[in-house]
Amino acid sequence: MGSTKYVFVTGGVTSSLGKGIISASLGKLLQARGFSVTIQKFDPYINVDPGTLNPYEHGECYVTDDGAETDLDLGHYERFLNVATSQANNVTTGRIYYNVITKERKGDYLGKTVQVVPHITDEIKRNFQALGNDKNYDIIITEIGGCVGDIESLPFIEALRQFRWDVGPSNLLVIHLTLVPYLSAAGELKTKPTQHSVKHLLEAGVQPDILVCRSEKRLPVDLRKKIALFCNVNYNSVIQAIDADTIYDVPLMMRKEKLDERVLSKLRLGTKSEVQIESWREFLGRHKNPTDEVEVGLVGKYVELPDSYKSISEAFVHAGAENECRVHLKYISSDTITEDNVGEVLDGLHGILVAPGFGERGMVGKIEAARYARENQIPYFGICLGMQCAVIEFARNVLGLKDAASSEMEIDSKNLVIDLMEDQKKVINKGGTMRLGAYQCKIKTGTKIHQAYGKTKISERHRHRYEFNNKYLARFEKAGMIMSGVNPETNLVETIELSDHPWFIGTQYHPELKSTVLNPHKLFVKFVKAALEHKGKIN
Ligand code: GLN
Repeated sequence: MGSTKYVFVTGGVTSSLGKGIISASLGKLLQARGFSVTIQKFDPYINVDPGTLNPYEHGECYVTDDGAETDLDLGHYERFLNVATSQANNVTTGRIYYNVITKERKGDYLGKTVQVVPHITDEIKRNFQALGNDKNYDIIITEIGGCVGDIESLPFIEALRQFRWDVGPSNLLVIHLTLVPYLSAAGELKTKPTQHSVKHLLEAGVQPDILVCRSEKRLPVDLRKKIALFCNVNYNSVIQAIDADTIYDVPLMMRKEKLDERVLSKLRLGTKSEVQIESWREFLGRHKNPTDEVEVGLVGKYVELPDSYKSISEAFVHAGAENECRVHLKYISSDTITEDNVGEVLDGLHGILVAPGFGERGMVGKIEAARYARENQIPYFGICLGMQCAVIEFARNVLGLKDAASSEMEIDSKNLVIDLMEDQKKVINKGGTMRLGAYQCKIKTGTKIHQAYGKTKISERHRHRYEFNNKYLARFEKAGMIMSGVNPETNLVETIELSDHPWFIGTQYHPELKSTVLNPHKLFVKFVKAALEHKGKIN
């Protein structure tokens, strides 16, 4: 266990209060004082990981370098801290039970009755510490998903209660995120929901040390005093978190509220150094004071829930700031695009991004969007399925292979330009069986991809089953689609681009997963630049 300190973040009253952003913001502030920090998330659902979930359930599935399919909050942790996460950073109830049941089947419990307490809670506690095993972190922040009081989060809260005594009270603190709603009819902020949610925690034997209160309005002194009195915390441990213009304001807001100082003093850690956060402030300055703006269409089939494309929209925030340009994302449902209306739907956009996705639905619209961008010289960025659709479109309309398709949509086509590799054909289980995680890619010099990265060896993250069919490679290249990046071991095509187009790029991998505030992804930066140039041409 060493000298690692633990911060737990729980949530009450309602979900969606932003525990992930508060955790990431606190992590950022502690990191900016010179502490080594990591953040992990424990989710109370039974799926072993979110990889099999439809994006409408929990938003985007975030993929780590080691190929874990994880909760989208891990994306926030990486974007804020600029440090890679891994499988160990996201644990679900399903994984905990899976581990315990696997041990039980092996006979590891030596004839004992296996129970929630102590076996499930022991497994949870083992996982609370897993990240500290190979790296010595000063502070591990653990976000507990869901809401206190829910049946499903009980074992996590119970494990937390026990864990405080395992590591010693001065090595662990609990931040409880709660809501202080404003009732406009009464003209008042209300503390009762907070009192009740703290009561839930107390009933489970957990006293929160700090309360972070989400609210639309400032919390007056009296109200803070009341919350402190009823919830058993110090007055200066009642922290307000007012709705922010952007999630990237939250670290500075928490700094102002001294959240980091409260945490360090309660954990009996010195402040180490002042918060070094200049580059963050510079980023915010550029983000908030753009000198230009562009409109980019995001064509996808899960657009009713923008969280499905969280990493993409955040990558545009980073890349926009880098270009001092505000990127307005127009979410367009690929289901609504047809050959006849594509010009109307995509009219006036400065760039078109065709998003990742699964299954046949919406593919026709994506293929039409790729055609429109290619024919009209509009900057195009195809990510994963977006690259595959650009390949299919090119095969149909340039190579003249009218029935060209992906075996994901049309298994009977004679020209499966996108197809399953042999090893994928044998796969039966859906969970964790795609091509997942970081793979090397070798980039051809003199290509646009090379210009963007400025090097020939890169590593990017994948999440897909289907691949470009190399049988067709020569024909594509002859007609002007350059396969500018390939996997050096398997020769699989990882990037495509068009030679006679200002900016038409597709990537089989997901560049959005590696864009952070400090390291905006180069492809997004160049795409926004191309959109700005296109805007200059059409205006
Ligand atoms: N459905 C496609 C595949 O599995 C693309 C996946 C994606 O866009 N992430 O290959």
